[in-house]
Amino acid sequence: MELKDLWQTVLGEIELTISKANFITWFRNTKIHSKKDGLITVSTPNGFTREWLENKYNKLILKILRNNSPDVKEINFVIGEEKIVSPKAVEEPTPTLIGDQLNFQEFNLDKETNLNPKYTFNNFIIGSFNELAQAAGRAIVKNPGTMYNPLFIYGGVGLGKTHLIQAIGNELTKAHPNKKIKYLSSEKYTSELVDAISKKGMDSFKDKYRKIDTLIIDDIQFIAGKEKTQEEFFHTFNALYQKNKQIIITSDRAPKSISTLEERLRSRFEGGMIADITYPDLETRTAIINTKLKEKKIKLPNDVTTYIATNIQRNIREVEGALNRVIAYSQVNNIIPDQKITQKILTQIINSPKKMTNYKNILKIVAEFYDIHISDLIDRSRKKELVRPRQITMYLIRNELNSSYPYIGEKLGGRDHTTAMYACQKIKKDIESNESAQEEINLIKEKLYT
Ligand code: ADP
Ligand code: MG
Repeated sequence: MELKDLWQTVLGEIELTISKANFITWFRNTKIHSKKDGLITVSTPNGFTREWLENKYNKLILKILRNNSPDVKEINFVIGEEKIVSPKAVEEPTPTLIGDQLNFQEFNLDKETNLNPKYTFNNFIIGSFNELAQAAGRAIVKNPGTMYNPLFIYGGVGLGKTHLIQAIGNELTKAHPNKKIKYLSSEKYTSELVDAISKKGMDSFKDKYRKIDTLIIDDIQFIAGKEKTQEEFFHTFNALYQKNKQIIITSDRAPKSISTLEERLRSRFEGGMIADITYPDLETRTAIINTKLKEKKIKLPNDVTTYIATNIQRNIREVEGALNRVIAYSQVNNIIPDQKITQKILTQIINSPKKMTNYKNILKIVAEFYDIHISDLIDRSRKKELVRPRQITMYLIRNELNSSYPYIGEKLGGRDHTTAMYACQKIKKDIESNESAQEEINLIKEKLYT
């Protein structure tokens, strides 16, 4: 395998395991520079990237390299743009259905707005699962700050929230070139705030955020439990809202399910338009795959795309990852994939045996989800905000692990088995009668197994 292909394969696999932003940040402009006696030299664009790759991704890269080229022993990361010397391919490549090389496109974030121009409405596929959110977004582009304010979009991982709000932002920039639009994650907001406090730059922080015409905040659930951030965000929110400035927010769950969100923020979020994004159906998944192929200028046989669309259902990012994996494999091996090959390539993703969980993990994930301590789940407190997470914990232990009621009672602070039984029945009923409870449990389960 040529070094270049080897690296493409590694990149293809890494892209599956980390977030897109991380992938682009750390792996753009990296190459294998050379391979000698099992030592792979990877060139990186700067010292910061080199250090990061060395500290954070060394193990992962090494593992994937070895899977594809067993004689690899270690990696040396260097800074530099030296040209890769690789023997030119001697043979003419056999004609293939696959077009261009798999390049991950470079996108520069806009410095002013923070928006990534690759997220547009053009490459955003609409189905019943995201129709409402999308329509609200389009309405906002026409009349920002008036109709749907704030727009609160929520839904599970990899279902297009970030894509959609960035598309709204990009479209707004085009339609209203003089307006100040800003996109950022709630984590970035928090870290800017912390920075401002420590450097005594609060005035300019406040000033900056109050001058914005459209504020787009991604993944607001991360400000749960952060009092200072919530307080400041509340003021930012009000200042903008009173001036009819548009606010767009995403979250992985509905406002009422963000447990340690201050009541006053929750009611602000609920005061505008709330739109959820659910799961795309088969046709939509197929359409998404076809759009991605068009973007990459690549063709794949229908049975291959159908196989992917049929088998990966609950996460569009995973659909894309699978697609990239098939493309990389085909290009490296210079073959046209068919369904059988696709099945083989994707078997790890699709048929990976259901990851096991255990009661400790359930406690940990539930506590994280509700931003409480594991001990809160076990202790005797009867506080309402603790009782429900505790019941959900019992329900999950029962349903995911098939544990007996006495066992569940014992693990949750030595409670009686009837308490566990009651909790499980209560949550079961809740789920049956209440869609948002169902969503909530699904979200926690998703986190249990990822
Ligand atoms: P989320 O923010 O909900 O976790 P993202 O917006 O990051 O999800 O989407 C994950 C990936 O799936 C992105 O690469 C995005 O471009 C793609 N994607 C999501 N929804 C759509 C869609 N409706 N049409 C086309 N691509 C989509
Ligand atoms: Mg996102």
